[in-house]
Amino acid sequence: MSEKKALVLPYELLEPAELDLREKSLLAEAAQARRHSYAPYTKFRVGAAIRTRDGAVVSGWNVEDIVQSGLHAENSALGRLTVENRAAGLEMIAVVGGPEDKLSEEIVTPCGHCRQRLLEVLRPDDDPVIVMSGTRGRVLRAALRDLLPFAFYPAILAPEK
Ligand SMILES: [Zn+2]
Repeated sequence: MSEKKALVLPYELLEPAELDLREKSLLAEAAQARRHSYAPYTKFRVGAAIRTRDGAVVSGWNVEDIVQSGLHAENSALGRLTVENRAAGLEMIAVVGGPEDKLSEEIVTPCGHCRQRLLEVLRPDDDPVIVMSGTRGRVLRAALRDLLPFAFYPAILAPEK
């Protein structure tokens, strides 16, 4: 017999002033990274920053190309994590994005593929917060794991015995 269920996605919408210092600082890193974006086709620039539990911060930005197989900011940042950073575990992620020619309050969140890639590097006990925003306005705060329900984790391929 079928059973209907529903998911609840807890998240908060905050004014920038309500963020704690660590969140403000990581969002500032993401905004700084966004400056390096190469987005001549969409004119939509995104920056991402990741703080690991050992205190390291890496950032990335979107990079487009004419054949539309570009690199997203989150993936760019993930590519800069060292093996030591990954071993330390992820603590927090920040994403800032918007059109290059005007400020926007539209909150930018990672695409499905980037959500999967971010989950990919989590250790079992990592539960990072992700803060996301447009280029101005409120910030969405959530737990990264909540952004991809029923996710496919690497452990599914190699279950622990
Ligand atoms: Zn993406």
